Amino acid sequence: MTHSPTLVWFRLDLRVCDNPALQAAAGRGAPVVPLFVLDDAEAGDRGFGGARRWWLHHSLAALAGSLRQRGLSLVLRRGRAAEILPEVARSTGAGAVYWNRCYEPWRIARDRALKRELAGDGLEVESFNAALLHEPWTVKTKAGGPFGVYSAFWRALQQRPVADPWPAPGPMTSVAGVAGDLLDDWGLLPRRPDWAGGLRETWTPGEASAQGRLDAFLEHGLEDYASERDRPDLDSTSRLSPHLHFGEIGPRQVWAAVQAFLERQDGRPRAAGSSAWKFLAELGWREFSHHLLYHHPTLPEAPLRAQFEAFPWSDDEGLFRAWCRGLTGYPIVDAGMRQLWHSGWLHNRLRMIVASFLVKDLLIPWQRGEAWFRDTLVDADLANNAASWQWVAGCGADAAPFFRIFNPVLQGEKFDPRGDYVRRWVPELARLPDRYLHKPWEAPESVLRPAGLRLGTDYPEPLVDHRRAREKALAAFEAIKQAPRPVQAPGAGDLDAT
Ligand code: FAD
Repeated sequence: MTHSPTLVWFRLDLRVCDNPALQAAAGRGAPVVPLFVLDDAEAGDRGFGGARRWWLHHSLAALAGSLRQRGLSLVLRRGRAAEILPEVARSTGAGAVYWNRCYEPWRIARDRALKRELAGDGLEVESFNAALLHEPWTVKTKAGGPFGVYSAFWRALQQRPVADPWPAPGPMTSVAGVAGDLLDDWGLLPRRPDWAGGLRETWTPGEASAQGRLDAFLEHGLEDYASERDRPDLDSTSRLSPHLHFGEIGPRQVWAAVQAFLERQDGRPRAAGSSAWKFLAELGWREFSHHLLYHHPTLPEAPLRAQFEAFPWSDDEGLFRAWCRGLTGYPIVDAGMRQLWHSGWLHNRLRMIVASFLVKDLLIPWQRGEAWFRDTLVDADLANNAASWQWVAGCGADAAPFFRIFNPVLQGEKFDPRGDYVRRWVPELARLPDRYLHKPWEAPESVLRPAGLRLGTDYPEPLVDHRRAREKALAAFEAIKQAPRPVQAPGAGDLDAT
């Protein structure tokens, strides 16, 4: 039994269940100082976007409540984590510092330096995996390198056993009198204007809510996931992404719950089993994105396929702003962008449609879309976001080929066949008959007038003609195809546990 306190540094692991750092602190048996540091500078301009700041506020409040039930008081500090951590460790006389690993390149660099410094001060420093099923440096090709293709990565992942999640620790002893900030003083919630009404309406951040969402999905959604997951008009996916991003629930917990679901399905129709595996395969994409970010730290900025450096992108601000505001004149694109703004989330099919439209119809660089998503999504995740944007833009690992360009009218007709989704988010089109809903510019005056719609006044004419935009994009792609084709060499392969 040791008495020097244990400092537990919370980051994107805002939960008490399946939290190995907290578990290790409980096991050490000394008083515990749980600490969260709001380090605005750590990520430069890639820090928390507006939507995630809102989420963070509520998630920290929920975490503080769960820790309080275990006898602990969450300490909040704002500033450079690299300075605050050693300071709190010294002022509390901590003998050990534990945290769960994050995989953003700047965090890896900062955490490695911190580990060296704290260990140099004589502290026991240990980090753990709470965010992934398997850590990126442990999943290797037969040749020992990182994977560049998802299907092979997923096959390899399925061969590996997933560790069981940890239960929540029992009561612990707190350290009294550790100075900290008040959450309300951090100003994470928007005030003037308060644009978070849609977020409040849509989400309840926190570990209990994450678990509730998983339970409800297993009960009501998982069985039909494979057949309905592509339909934005149905509430058919788990919506766990922000909870997973903030670590309010961990992938091992989700994995274990789905395995238990599969065991319960023994003898039932096979559809449920294949749905469950389809869902797990999406967790596999999450792992793959983290794998890519880890092995290609420039993933958020630079195309993995270097020839895209020469792509003749447009810098038309007007086009970009119209896309952001959901005013492109293509109903399915506008519905998606307005849902994103309102609720901080977007269905995967819509993410693909709006991203394809930005990059291939408007020829705006994918990095601008990535940045907009980073600011507006509650689940904005550097690995998933950057890898997915590169995938859509055709410049990433195992990406959709650039020449596969979504037709926004056909996408709308196929995935929102009754128009419920568009009518909800673009109410000015609500009275248009189904036949014209995804292409209002084809409707004759005799249809527009009774629907109360004046094109160009109530709703924009299309920003671009999709057929011509497609030809232009393909011509631009032809031009860069001649450029060299190397995929970036892995950059972080020697980094292991941080
Ligand atoms: P479900 O279908 O229920 O899937 C379960 C979980 O698997 C998700 O919560 C998520 O953690 C993971 N997942 C599902 N699909 C993917 C995927 N294609 N790639 C990686 N992980 C996946 N996801 C993010 O979490 N953060 C992002 O910033 C993000 N940006 C994206 C940007 C673009 C352009 C695109 C096309 C996709 C992006 N995604 C991102 C992936 C995906 O769209 C979301 O994870 C998914 O829509 C979240 O909804 P859900 O939780 O209901 O997913």
